[in-house]
Amino acid sequence: MEIETVEAIGLRRELDESFANAQKWTSSREYCLVRVESENFTGWGECWGPIAGNREIIERVIAPWLRGRDLAHPESVHADLVTLLRGKYHSHIPWGAIGGIDIALWDLLGKQEGKPVSALLSGGRRESVRAYATGGFWPRVETFEAVRKAVVEEARAHVDRGFGALKTKIGLHRHFGWGSQRDVELVRAIRDAVGPEVWLMADANHAYDVATARQVGRNLADLDLAFFEEPIPPANIEGYARLQRDTEVPIAAGECWTPRQFDRALESGAVGYVQPDVTSTGGLTPSRRVRTAAQARSVQALPHVFGSAVALAASLQLLATIRGDPMFEFDRTPNPIREDLAKTPIENDGPEVPIPEGPGLGIEIDPDVLADFRVE
Ligand SMILES: [Mg+2]
Repeated sequence: MEIETVEAIGLRRELDESFANAQKWTSSREYCLVRVESENFTGWGECWGPIAGNREIIERVIAPWLRGRDLAHPESVHADLVTLLRGKYHSHIPWGAIGGIDIALWDLLGKQEGKPVSALLSGGRRESVRAYATGGFWPRVETFEAVRKAVVEEARAHVDRGFGALKTKIGLHRHFGWGSQRDVELVRAIRDAVGPEVWLMADANHAYDVATARQVGRNLADLDLAFFEEPIPPANIEGYARLQRDTEVPIAAGECWTPRQFDRALESGAVGYVQPDVTSTGGLTPSRRVRTAAQARSVQALPHVFGSAVALAASLQLLATIRGDPMFEFDRTPNPIREDLAKTPIENDGPEVPIPEGPGLGIEIDPDVLADFRVE
């Protein structure tokens, strides 16, 4: 099967209200999708990161190389693509762009063979997966009381919509100047509001140094947290390993890691949960390897997801193949591209989200919605 077309498509939408995590304010959502075509089949993928950079790499570097090649298997294309891009970019391999291509090729192969991607990855184990609501971002307000009120109301709304697990943001210092005791207060307010039965997680988006993270982790243990995500900067694998040894709450990380960093983290016991993102780690091919490596070490993989409908569907196909009791990270921030891009939106049914059925990723992109969000 010869690849005939390779296209990068930028999508963007401004949001009515911006929101923050420990690192940045988000005022728009934008994605670089990949469309590949062969013999009347179309595969869709999604890159990690902004349109800028991804689009140029795909159109100018990858597309001329990929067009006309035989799609023997996405895994063999992935290996050749990494070799090509290592030659051009040395250690700065653009994993986000590779992720978009790799996911599109898996979707294409699934459609050609009439099978869901989960079947091609190793076989689906489940038809739906437990989901946790990701939210607890902060609005533009002046006082801690206003932040606390907003996140507590949101947490209650997620529980009312059927979620039995939710994740909130901590690391208020950069934007608001408040110390880490406020972060713990925020989580305590949510725990008090939702009760002891709900699984509760906190994500610091690498806000802390190791000493502060250890202190916060100690306080979070009293609040029965399921995991403490990205307490420190992602490159500090050694710091993660120390924290994981010292902290009662399991540490989770991986959304920023390269394939090699996953290897180092798993070899050194740096995390209690590992969080590959199918877009940023370089696609379904390396995410499947992370899943298998984690399983070999009895570490549960909980994929990170913060994308459009394409990334959600690809993540659900991977989740269908993960052993144990994985959870789907269901971003609940305002995002019309995530909601509207697929003809059948991905939604929770109580605490579970169904794995999309049908060949490939199992979703159909709405061409009118795509045209509406598209930017040149
Ligand atoms: Mg995170």
